[in-house]
Amino acid sequence: MTEAIQVLDHGFVRLVESKGSDLEIVRAARVSYDAEWRAGEDDGGDAKLIRYLRKNHHTSPFEHVVFTFEVKAPIFVFRQWHRHRTWSYSEMSGRYAPIKDDVFIPKVGTIGNQAKDNKQMRDVSEDTYKQWADEYRDQNIQSAMADSMEKSFDTYRELLAEGVPRELARIVLPLSTYSHMFATVDLHNLFAFITLRDHDHAQPEIRVYAQAMKKLIQPIVPVAVDAFNNWG
Ligand SMILES: Cc1cc2nc3c(=O)[nH]c(=O)nc-3n(C[C@H](O)[C@H](O)[C@H](O)COP(=O)(O)OP(=O)(O)OC[C@H]3O[C@@H](n4cnc5c(N)ncnc54)[C@H](O)[C@@H]3O)c2cc1C
Repeated sequence: MTEAIQVLDHGFVRLVESKGSDLEIVRAARVSYDAEWRAGEDDGGDAKLIRYLRKNHHTSPFEHVVFTFEVKAPIFVFRQWHRHRTWSYSEMSGRYAPIKDDVFIPKVGTIGNQAKDNKQMRDVSEDTYKQWADEYRDQNIQSAMADSMEKSFDTYRELLAEGVPRELARIVLPLSTYSHMFATVDLHNLFAFITLRDHDHAQPEIRVYAQAMKKLIQPIVPVAVDAFNNWG
């Protein structure tokens, strides 16, 4: 198991285990032409083949490498993540155990305003910040968010104390509440995830998880990651 990379204010992503490496990719690819997966020591042919595969969208060999991650992230990040159907997920359940009051609060300087030229994004440019009293404005937003979340958790605890079932008491909790999961994916679908979620149009709070996972797999599949960086 690798060290966890800390993400956001209370989140992390950790590589729990993996199957395969760059070698697994070339071994799978060479089956196509019924060749020995490698006749002897690698003379640079493995890297050349992996680059060729990525450049030409020959994706199936990348599916033979598999990763399991442990992730702690806010529920609104999981909601986007779980749209990726090619992963396998096991998530903590608020029906089994009380939910901890661990919440995400955006940092000062990362809040910005609703973007005018893109309906789903935010504008955190310096120009935006000049219009506001910068830190002071963001600190007020942080306090308003924290107050609201605290009230929700107070209500949650009161409901539990009154004997309300955990599965119903939890519905008062905010989307910022952290959750915890194990998630397994093959390299082809992980690259697809990183393409979509480490992108300008993706929400910054999921981008940082995509970036962290790329860092975690880099030592295991360095040639494939390099080819992905160059050709997607
Ligand atoms: C910036 C951004 C904004 C988004 N905004 C919204 C939004 O406003 N509302 C919303 O609902 N979603 C939104 N999404 C989610 C998006 O529509 C996809 O559901 C999500 O990105 C998962 O992508 P995927 O289907 O390619 O991934 P996966 O589910 O992992 O699938 C990978 C690939 O497998 C194939 N596949 C998997 N399942 C099927 C299937 N049942 N039928 C056919 N092919 C399949 C497809 O080729 C697919 O590309 C957004 C995503 C991004 C990145």
